[in-house]
Amino acid sequence: MSITNFQPLDSGSVPRFAGPSTFMRLPMATPEQVDIALIGVPFDGGTTNRPGARHGPREIRNQSSLVRRVHHVTGVSPFEQVRAGDCGDVIVNPLDLPGSLDTISAFFENVHQSGARSLVVGGDHLITLPILRGIAKEPAGLIHFDAHSDTYDEFFGNRYNHGTPFRRAVEEGLLDPKRMVQIGIRGAISDVENYDFAREAGIRIIFIEEFMERGVDTVMAEARSIVGDAPTYVSFDIDALDPSFAPGTGTPEIGGITTREAQKMIRALAGVDIIGADLVEVSPPLDPSGVTALTGATLLFELLCVMTMQIPAK
Ligand code: MN
Ligand code: MN
Repeated sequence: MSITNFQPLDSGSVPRFAGPSTFMRLPMATPEQVDIALIGVPFDGGTTNRPGARHGPREIRNQSSLVRRVHHVTGVSPFEQVRAGDCGDVIVNPLDLPGSLDTISAFFENVHQSGARSLVVGGDHLITLPILRGIAKEPAGLIHFDAHSDTYDEFFGNRYNHGTPFRRAVEEGLLDPKRMVQIGIRGAISDVENYDFAREAGIRIIFIEEFMERGVDTVMAEARSIVGDAPTYVSFDIDALDPSFAPGTGTPEIGGITTREAQKMIRALAGVDIIGADLVEVSPPLDPSGVTALTGATLLFELLCVMTMQIPAK
């Protein structure tokens, strides 16, 4: 344990509603200074329907002021065990989609060079593509929580939107489809060929019905065996959750997982070699109570704790 690790503001001396709004009240840092870099990507230019996820990082920073220090189940104390800091936002251009993708991938290339692992808050789901361009130097595995497969080919003639990132990532060799699993998929689809690409590529889709039948432990054991020991990315679309738990998102689908299941599923990632993770699609304008952003902030802490377990003690 290093006493030089960045620590959150002490809630006994600076109240949680005061002080700078950073992720988990950590200091601002550069990627070179940390093992795990918390990063915002406030971009929702890939959204095809209800937007607003560009405001996700700012509101999740706000709600993450409630995050405390020690995981109550695993005992992990991330701020003592690793160096974590808020590495700021990627400064995107909301009027330039291709340019923003390049800006995001260049930012994450730099994080990758620094040796830090990225823990990212979106933004819509398209941001996962340029993140992977920056950090996946060989085809990575993927554990993907979502109501949607996000493997469409295009919308409105455009191949880069939040319904297509995983198809592009497979085509670009950033992900190994044989080491990809999507969990929580559900909802009516646009046509019967909706899942053909994923199936033909060998992506394992676990629909919500199968998940409910088999339960968290069995499904997550299968997910771990699919990705194995090799580098794996974790992507959590907040709409994997039932809209009764997370209403503030652009494409809600009823019949989703509960927050308790989501927590258990993330804890079950312990042992996976997580090279980076994101939490996307929280849309504060659609979230007047703030509960979706609070849920996002809390799941971000769960992700930080499992990533901490993978980083060797110094
Ligand atoms: Mn998605
Ligand atoms: Mn989704």
